[in-house]
Amino acid sequence: MGRGFTQYSYIDDELPDEWPIHSAHLDYILDDGTRLNVNQADYYCPNCNHFVVGERIETVSALEQEINDIENAPQSRRRMLAEVIGNTPQQIAELHIRIRWRKNRKAPPKCLQCGCTQILPIPDYDEFNHPQTGQPMKRSGRGFATTTEWHATYTPEGDQIESS
Ligand SMILES: [Zn+2]
Repeated sequence: MGRGFTQYSYIDDELPDEWPIHSAHLDYILDDGTRLNVNQADYYCPNCNHFVVGERIETVSALEQEINDIENAPQSRRRMLAEVIGNTPQQIAELHIRIRWRKNRKAPPKCLQCGCTQILPIPDYDEFNHPQTGQPMKRSGRGFATTTEWHATYTPEGDQIESS
Protein backbone atom coordinates (compact mmCIF):
# COMPACT_ATOMS: atom_id res chain seq x y z
CA MET A 1 0.00 0.00 0.00
CA GLY A 2 2.24 2.83 1.17
CA ARG A 3 1.24 6.46 1.38
CA GLY A 4 -0.99 8.21 -1.14
CA PHE A 5 0.48 11.17 -2.97
CA THR A 6 -0.23 13.57 -5.78
CA GLN A 7 2.60 14.81 -7.97
CA TYR A 8 2.51 18.38 -9.31
CA SER A 9 4.86 19.76 -11.99
CA TYR A 10 5.68 23.24 -13.23
CA ILE A 11 4.86 23.65 -16.91
CA ASP A 12 7.20 26.52 -17.93
CA ASP A 13 9.82 26.41 -15.17
CA GLU A 14 12.63 23.99 -14.42
CA LEU A 15 11.64 23.67 -10.78
CA PRO A 16 11.45 20.37 -8.91
CA ASP A 17 8.06 18.67 -8.72
CA GLU A 18 5.97 18.93 -5.59
CA TRP A 19 4.83 15.76 -3.82
CA PRO A 20 2.49 16.21 -0.86
CA ILE A 21 2.28 12.74 0.70
CA HIS A 22 -0.71 11.85 2.85
CA SER A 23 -0.59 9.55 5.86
CA ALA A 24 -3.18 7.19 7.32
CA HIS A 25 -1.66 7.64 10.78
CA LEU A 26 -2.55 11.24 11.66
CA ASP A 27 -5.10 11.46 14.48
CA TYR A 28 -6.80 14.12 16.56
CA ILE A 29 -6.89 13.31 20.26
CA LEU A 30 -10.27 14.59 21.42
CA ASP A 31 -10.97 15.87 24.93
CA ASP A 32 -12.29 12.49 26.09
CA GLY A 33 -9.26 10.68 24.63
CA THR A 34 -11.03 9.43 21.50
CA ARG A 35 -8.84 9.29 18.39
CA LEU A 36 -10.25 10.69 15.15
CA ASN A 37 -8.43 10.34 11.85
CA VAL A 38 -7.32 13.66 10.32
CA ASN A 39 -8.86 14.19 6.86
CA GLN A 40 -6.25 15.64 4.55
CA ALA A 41 -6.00 17.80 1.45
CA ASP A 42 -3.19 19.36 -0.58
CA TYR A 43 -2.21 22.97 0.06
CA TYR A 44 0.64 25.38 -0.59
CA CYS A 45 2.18 26.42 2.73
CA PRO A 46 4.02 29.79 2.63
CA ASN A 47 5.91 28.87 5.80
CA CYS A 48 7.15 25.47 4.50
CA ASN A 49 7.41 27.02 1.00
CA HIS A 50 6.18 23.72 -0.45
CA PHE A 51 3.05 21.87 -1.34
CA VAL A 52 2.01 20.18 1.88
CA VAL A 53 -0.67 18.06 3.45
CA GLY A 54 -3.11 20.17 5.45
CA GLU A 55 -6.35 19.57 7.25
CA ARG A 56 -9.49 19.05 5.21
CA ILE A 57 -12.35 20.42 7.31
CA GLU A 58 -15.81 19.65 5.96
CA THR A 59 -18.94 21.55 7.00
CA VAL A 60 -21.32 19.98 9.51
CA SER A 61 -24.01 19.79 6.83
CA ALA A 62 -21.67 17.94 4.44
CA LEU A 63 -20.93 15.39 7.18
CA GLU A 64 -24.64 15.03 7.96
CA GLN A 65 -25.27 14.51 4.26
CA GLU A 66 -22.72 11.67 4.24
CA ILE A 67 -24.63 9.91 7.02
CA ASN A 68 -27.91 10.46 5.21
CA ASP A 69 -26.47 9.06 1.97
CA ILE A 70 -25.12 5.96 3.69
CA GLU A 71 -28.38 5.31 5.56
CA ASN A 72 -31.00 6.34 3.00
CA ALA A 73 -29.53 6.52 -0.50
CA PRO A 74 -28.50 3.05 -1.72
CA GLN A 75 -27.50 4.43 -5.15
CA SER A 76 -25.29 7.22 -3.82
CA ARG A 77 -21.52 7.18 -4.27
CA ARG A 78 -21.05 7.58 -0.53
CA ARG A 79 -23.15 4.49 0.21
CA MET A 80 -21.24 2.47 -2.37
CA LEU A 81 -17.95 3.66 -0.91
CA ALA A 82 -19.16 2.69 2.55
CA GLU A 83 -19.95 -0.81 1.32
CA VAL A 84 -16.50 -1.14 -0.24
CA ILE A 85 -14.81 -0.04 2.99
CA GLY A 86 -17.04 -2.32 5.07
CA ASN A 87 -18.40 -2.11 8.62
CA THR A 88 -20.92 0.64 7.87
CA PRO A 89 -22.10 1.09 11.50
CA GLN A 90 -18.55 1.92 12.51
CA GLN A 91 -18.24 4.46 9.70
CA ILE A 92 -21.47 6.14 10.81
CA ALA A 93 -20.28 6.20 14.42
CA GLU A 94 -17.07 7.90 13.25
CA LEU A 95 -19.04 10.48 11.28
CA HIS A 96 -21.02 11.32 14.44
CA ILE A 97 -17.74 11.80 16.31
CA ARG A 98 -16.47 13.98 13.46
CA ILE A 99 -19.62 16.13 13.59
CA ARG A 100 -19.18 16.64 17.34
CA TRP A 101 -15.53 17.63 16.76
CA ARG A 102 -16.47 19.93 13.85
CA LYS A 103 -19.09 21.83 15.88
CA ASN A 104 -16.41 22.80 18.40
CA ARG A 105 -13.58 23.44 15.95
CA LYS A 106 -12.66 27.14 15.74
CA ALA A 107 -9.30 27.48 13.93
CA PRO A 108 -9.08 27.44 10.13
CA PRO A 109 -7.30 24.50 8.43
CA LYS A 110 -3.62 24.19 9.33
CA CYS A 111 -0.51 22.82 7.67
CA LEU A 112 -0.05 19.42 9.32
CA GLN A 113 3.71 19.88 9.19
CA CYS A 114 4.18 23.35 10.75
CA GLY A 115 0.71 24.50 11.91
CA CYS A 116 0.57 27.55 9.60
CA THR A 117 -2.99 28.79 8.93
CA GLN A 118 -2.05 30.83 5.83
CA ILE A 119 -2.15 27.72 3.64
CA LEU A 120 -3.71 28.01 0.18
CA PRO A 121 -5.74 25.13 -1.31
CA ILE A 122 -4.45 23.48 -4.50
CA PRO A 123 -7.15 23.68 -7.17
CA ASP A 124 -8.59 20.30 -8.12
CA TYR A 125 -7.86 20.61 -11.86
CA ASP A 126 -5.44 18.91 -14.24
CA GLU A 127 -3.93 22.34 -14.96
CA PHE A 128 -3.98 25.33 -12.65
CA ASN A 129 -1.93 28.28 -11.47
CA HIS A 130 0.25 28.05 -8.38
CA PRO A 131 -1.95 29.64 -5.69
CA GLN A 132 0.83 31.97 -4.54
CA THR A 133 3.02 32.74 -7.55
CA GLY A 134 0.56 32.15 -10.39
CA GLN A 135 3.04 29.93 -12.27
CA PRO A 136 1.25 27.44 -14.55
CA MET A 137 1.28 23.92 -13.14
CA LYS A 138 -0.20 20.55 -13.87
CA ARG A 139 -1.16 17.48 -11.90
CA SER A 140 1.31 14.96 -13.29
CA GLY A 141 0.73 11.85 -11.23
CA ARG A 142 -1.05 10.14 -8.45
CA GLY A 143 -0.25 6.94 -6.61
CA PHE A 144 1.14 5.21 -3.58
CA ALA A 145 4.73 5.63 -2.44
CA THR A 146 6.66 3.21 -0.30
CA THR A 147 8.24 5.67 2.06
CA THR A 148 8.81 6.25 5.74
CA GLU A 149 5.61 6.04 7.75
CA TRP A 150 4.44 9.27 9.35
CA HIS A 151 2.63 9.01 12.67
CA ALA A 152 1.37 12.15 14.40
CA THR A 153 -1.25 13.32 16.86
CA TYR A 154 -3.01 16.69 17.02
CA THR A 155 -5.22 18.65 19.38
CA PRO A 156 -8.85 19.19 18.22
CA GLU A 157 -7.68 22.60 16.92
CA GLY A 158 -5.06 20.98 14.69
CA ASP A 159 -1.93 21.73 16.73
CA GLN A 160 0.65 18.97 16.64
CA ILE A 161 1.19 17.04 19.87
CA GLU A 162 3.65 14.38 18.69
CA SER A 163 5.19 13.43 15.36
CA SER A 164 7.45 10.54 14.42
ZN1 LIG B 1 3.81 24.41 6.73
